Amino acid sequence: MDREDAQPLALALASTIRHDGAGGVADDLADVAGLREWMGEQDELGAPDATEELRAEVVRIREAVRALFARAVSPAPPSPADAHRLLPVGEALARLNAAAAPEPVVPELSWPADGTPSVHLSAVHPGTDPGVRLVAQLARAAADFLAGPQRARLRACTAPRCVRYYVQTHGRQEWCRASCGNRARVARHARRQRERTAGGQAGTGGGQAGAGGKGIAASGGRTTSSS
Ligand SMILES: [Zn+2]
Repeated sequence: MDREDAQPLALALASTIRHDGAGGVADDLADVAGLREWMGEQDELGAPDATEELRAEVVRIREAVRALFARAVSPAPPSPADAHRLLPVGEALARLNAAAAPEPVVPELSWPADGTPSVHLSAVHPGTDPGVRLVAQLARAAADFLAGPQRARLRACTAPRCVRYYVQTHGRQEWCRASCGNRARVARHARRQRERTAGGQAGTGGGQAGAGGKGIAASGGRTTSSS
């Protein structure tokens, strides 16, 4: 599992809100087909029937997760995708805990002859509705993530237009992925160019506010000389 997108389940859920590559925000869970596809990509999840009801429940968990992710990265700014409509923290916590409650689980120790001991959680009531089980599993995954060591390395990507959260894999990682780093460097370079131009031609005032989109196509191999 060395794929670039192999990530904790809670992060995978949060990441279903992403930039669409054209300056907007895409939602992979915008419809039932999207939910079905996303569930199919998550190795840890079962595959209950994708219904509108289940989609709404998963989106409610995602709202709670993103609100708590915003708290986790604070005082750094949260993802701009939903920064202005975040659930209050208390409500987010209550929502996660309520979602996990219908599926009580017990720890089970196993220790294969040729391996190391491990604990996995086993359902107390195996007959739980698969949709309820999936939502509970997402809520537990979020709780584990937030209470675990990865929370401290959670970041909101600051590249132009990116709205992703990511877990830093090394101390100086500034962006969620290489393409975001390229975009951020191009934007920084363009900003410096404008500042330089504006400085040399006082009075003509750049006036290119909001630039940045054009930089993507020109990113190949460009590097910014540090000043
Ligand atoms: Zn990014």
